[in-house]
Amino acid sequence: MAPRLGANNPVISRTLSFISAANGAVRFRLHEHGSGALTLVKKIGAKVDPIHIIGGGLAGSEAAWQAAELGVMVVLHEMRPVRETEAHQTSGLAELVCSNSFRSDDALYNAVGVLHEEMRRCGSLVMRMADVNRVPAGGALAVDRDGFSKSVEDALEGHDLITIVREEIDGLPPAEWKNIIVATGPLTSAPLAQAITELTGEDGLAFFDAIAPIVLKDSIDFSRAWFQSRYDKGEGSDYINCPLDDKQYEAFISGLIKGEKISFHEWEATTPYFEGCLPIEVMAARGMETLSYGPMKPVGLINPHTPNIKPKAVVQLRQDNALGTLYNMVGFQTKLRHGAQIKLFRTIPGLENAEFARLGGLHRNTFINGPKLLTPDLKLKADTRFRFAGQITGCEGYVESAAIGLLAGRFAAFEQIERPHPAPWASTALGSLLGHVTGGADPDTYQPMNINFGLFPPLSVQEKDTTGRKIRRLRGKDRKAAYSRRALQEIDGWLAEFS
Ligand SMILES: Cc1cc2nc3c(=O)[nH]c(=O)nc-3n(C[C@H](O)[C@H](O)[C@H](O)COP(=O)(O)OP(=O)(O)OC[C@H]3O[C@@H](n4cnc5c(N)ncnc54)[C@H](O)[C@@H]3O)c2cc1C
Repeated sequence: MAPRLGANNPVISRTLSFISAANGAVRFRLHEHGSGALTLVKKIGAKVDPIHIIGGGLAGSEAAWQAAELGVMVVLHEMRPVRETEAHQTSGLAELVCSNSFRSDDALYNAVGVLHEEMRRCGSLVMRMADVNRVPAGGALAVDRDGFSKSVEDALEGHDLITIVREEIDGLPPAEWKNIIVATGPLTSAPLAQAITELTGEDGLAFFDAIAPIVLKDSIDFSRAWFQSRYDKGEGSDYINCPLDDKQYEAFISGLIKGEKISFHEWEATTPYFEGCLPIEVMAARGMETLSYGPMKPVGLINPHTPNIKPKAVVQLRQDNALGTLYNMVGFQTKLRHGAQIKLFRTIPGLENAEFARLGGLHRNTFINGPKLLTPDLKLKADTRFRFAGQITGCEGYVESAAIGLLAGRFAAFEQIERPHPAPWASTALGSLLGHVTGGADPDTYQPMNINFGLFPPLSVQEKDTTGRKIRRLRGKDRKAAYSRRALQEIDGWLAEFS
């Protein structure tokens, strides 16, 4: 995506920095610099100071939208394309750097599905644009990544109270910025990360995730592969499946273990992985059957080419763009060298001639010790001008990052207009996640966490299900349904009181 003119012009970006230093004098000078700045001038009222949001990813974009929708002016500072990260490939806001999935959209039984629904009820821009750009993915919410990013960016650019500035914030922001949200994500640029470390007095934590490859559908051999969703869920044919027999599976596992990997720098060698996003070769090294019970499990699938033969393992590929031309290898994040990936993945039946739109890779993840450093409304205890949002708080995942962005945006805006901003109640998905990153988790063992029902407060024994049974007797799906029902009732109560 090409850099844009107007509000994103670097000239304007410098002028905007000046505006908060001497707002009265600068107002008229802004007229000289283009439409984005004109909007800012037009909207300046009694409260001149905008909220400054650093980072236009999932969290920063959502935070900007929420604050602006509450009537507060926002300046969103995004460093791309002026400065790139190791993983982003465009200059688009809210770019999805790896999978195109927002995971389960089941608000009845699944914690991330409940979080989706709560965010929708809070007017989330990220969820609205995910719904608009949805692609088939069984029970999951997957999106056309470019369409999604463009929709979010267009909405933010079109909002009268939002100005987008393309610049890297390469140290602590000026003292004149009074209300700041840091949403710079797992790939926060080094100078800012350094400044945050100095401010918090903490050593930043870091670990690695790995990215899965993407294959061109046209290059897949459908005389061996076939379309089917596990247990025929969703449309019944949302995934492409590639079967392996025992011999092929064993050779594949051995290839994974022996394949050449990207070596670590010395300082990276002791950095742990996030368990939910382990590279396949790390899983393979845990035992011959680990993958056949994990991302390569063959259950719920019948190979129409050989219906009487059960495969030992199956590689699944999920649609990655609206056109349906790209498919990502589900769960195949890896740190094998690119050459080794191509060689090994072409041994998978159906992928013998696979063309790769993107190969797997490594990435850094930087986050602060949220439970130790943040207040319940996401402010940095050491300097309350700052709030933190997104993955840098130690939540994990696109949806969770956007959710914490949503809360940071609302908190910052309510503070600006001097209204109370209590946290969502703990039994909601938003409240559970917020509680975890701002104090619920043990700071000594803090690790990034996806939303899950384990973060929700236990069900009260007084509560009854629809048939009148006591909640404490509920198990499995009934228990999940009770958590979901309670969360969605309570988010409505919270919104009714504090919107
Ligand atoms: C390579 C990789 C793969 C991932 N894969 C998945 C996945 O498949 N599924 C999933 O759910 N989650 C995944 N994650 C985790 C996480 O959900 C995403 O990183 C998510 O994008 C985090 O949202 P965020 O808004 O916190 O950060 P980001 O979306 O990364 O946004 C941060 C923004 O801040 C900008 N920025 C950084 N420093 C500065 C600065 N100094 N000044 C101005 N701007 C700055 C960046 O350019 C970026 O646009 C992955 C993370 C990485 C890094």
